[in-house]
Order: sequence, then C-alpha cells, then structure tokens
Amino acid sequence: MNFETIVAVRKLLAKPQKIVIVPHKNPDGDAIGSTLGLWHYLKKMGQDAVVVVPNDYPKFLKWMPGSGDILNFERENAQARSKINGATLIFTLDFNHLGRIGQMEKILEEANVPFVMIDHHQAPSEYADIMYSDVNMSSTCEMVYNFIEAVDGGTDGITTEIANCLYTGIMTDTGSFKFRSTTGRTHRVVADLIDKGAENTEIHHRVYDTNTPARLHLLGCALKNMVILEKYSTAYITLSQEELDAHDFQKGDTEGFVNYGLTLEGIRFAVIFIENHEEGIIKISFRSIGDFSVNEFARKHFEGGGHNNAAGGRSSLSLTETVARFESLLPNYQELLKP
Ligand code: 5GP
Ligand code: MN
Repeated sequence: MNFETIVAVRKLLAKPQKIVIVPHKNPDGDAIGSTLGLWHYLKKMGQDAVVVVPNDYPKFLKWMPGSGDILNFERENAQARSKINGATLIFTLDFNHLGRIGQMEKILEEANVPFVMIDHHQAPSEYADIMYSDVNMSSTCEMVYNFIEAVDGGTDGITTEIANCLYTGIMTDTGSFKFRSTTGRTHRVVADLIDKGAENTEIHHRVYDTNTPARLHLLGCALKNMVILEKYSTAYITLSQEELDAHDFQKGDTEGFVNYGLTLEGIRFAVIFIENHEEGIIKISFRSIGDFSVNEFARKHFEGGGHNNAAGGRSSLSLTETVARFESLLPNYQELLKP
C-alpha cells in the first residue's frame, strides 16, 4: 500500500463509520476469508461493520469465525438493503468491477459514500475512491494482512479469528501454496498467521476433507467426461445439469475439478464447462500453467476475466454449442499452446 492510501484510510477510520464489506458473487475461500478477516479487525477497532454476500457460499467455509453474522443479499434482502442504504463507507474485496456482484450491482452503484477496493484481479474499474489493487498478490487475504499492518502500524492486532480467516483464503487462492503467485512473503505472512493462532492443519481438514460420496461420484463423472486435445496441450471437462442433478449437486461441489486437467503431463490449459439451468448459462472456469493468459482468453471470448493462470467466464449458448465454439477458437492459439 502506498503512503497516500494509508493516510486516506486512517483518516476514514478515525471516525465512527457504518461499514458494509462486500465480496464477489459465488464467494470462495479468499472472498469469505478476506471479508471476515477485515470484519473482525474493524469490529475490534470499535467500528460498526457487516459483511454482505451477494449469494450463498459453500458449506466447507461456514465454520469460519463470524460466518453466522454474514448477511446474504438473496436470502436476507430487506436487512441487507437497509445496511447498504445506511452505510457511510463500503469496502469491496476480491473483485474489481461491480458487474461481479450480480443482483447487488445496482444498489452499490447508487450508494453515494466512499468506496475502498482491496483486490488482486487484473484491469480494475474506477469505481473506488481508495484503491489497493495489486495483481502480483497471491490473494486478497494476503492484502488484508498488509492492509492491517499498514493501517495499524504493525501486526500485533491480528487476533486468532483474523489469523484463521486470512490463512484460509491464502491457502485456497494459492492451491495450498503452490501457484505462481506464492512468494517468500506469502510464506512469511502465513508463518506469522500460524504464530498468531491460525489452526493450519485443522483448516486444511475443514476445507478439503469434507467430501460426500455424491461429490466424489460427481468427480468420477467429470473425469470420465474429460476430453484431451494433445495438439493444443488442452484438457476440458463438461458437466450437464442432468449429471449434476443425478449426483445431488450442492454449491461448491465442483470447486477444484478444473485443476485435474493440469495434473496430466504436458497439459497446460484446462477448462470446465458447467451447465446451469437456473441461470440459463454455461459457467466456465479456465486454468493454465505458464505464460498462456486465461484472463485474456476469458475476457476476449467468454465475457469473463480473472488472473493470468486462473479465470472464469460464461456462455449463453447450449453446452454442446459452447464446447464447439471453444474448440473452434483453439487453432488461433496453436502457436501459444503447442506441446
Ligand atoms: P473460478 O474459475 O474459480 O470461478 O474463478 C477463477 C478466477 O477468475 C477467480 O479469481 C474469479 O474471481 C475470476 N472469475 C471467475 N468468473 C469470472 C467472471 O465471470 N468474470 C470475471 N471478470 N472474473 C471471473
Ligand atoms: Mn482471490
């Protein structure tokens, strides 16, 4: 964080504020970890703060301290609206354009109060008065650690609750500390969080060891459906609504499936297409190893974006048509993707 940003944030937080903290739609470990980590910190400061999520998040994150105090904009709409309408300050975390919060876009656009953005995605929009945006960061949770360190003038104020929240998001967004964005600093932050009480082994267990038999069978189905295109170093998976229904699909069940493609030797581009009848779209996740930018690919062809090696997007075509369109794009990337 630069000096001016720190001064501006300190000035805002020197006064009592009514604060709303918002993560992106379909919040993941980093989104929930960073918003709750910041929430604990602001509450400890004596601020009035609340986390409002655009929609529900997976069960394997619901153990997180403060989870019970989160407002769900879809389910607790009146209460959430009243908090946003009464806010004097809004933090948006782990996303950088208001199109990423679904139904909440309009009410936030109309909110005439200062916005603070903390985010590590590419190409931020200019909606926030104070922007702490850094695409080199492993996770928004690592940034919240930096934020607290800068605003507080040290990390002594990081409690066990904050440490547990921030550890979780760094762990999930770095694929358990293996993605390219993981730096020496990331490990130092994580080490400090463990020293401050983050229950690292327990967190891995709670997030990753909560499979149901149905989810493992769904993974089996996804892996059976995998198509490998060696010519393009690409592997993709499809899951139809029918297949999801047959495996009693629950939110979060397909989390991480896309990564299996990258565990194949020689594969550098992995994709999963998931049919969603309710929203009438195909939700797509893209992952890559190395220099092929899935952020650019998703942005250009599938109304999406994200990071160089992990991005998402969508398609309004049918599942079959979406896959056909995807395959038809690959020859344009043959040079970049050649084995
Ligand atoms: P996932 O595939 O796990 O949903 O998302 C991977 C990354 O891409 C995340 O950082 C996520 O925030 C971003 N992302 C996912 N879907 C979209 C989308 O539709 N638009 C944009 N701009 N980013 C997305
Ligand atoms: Mn993130």
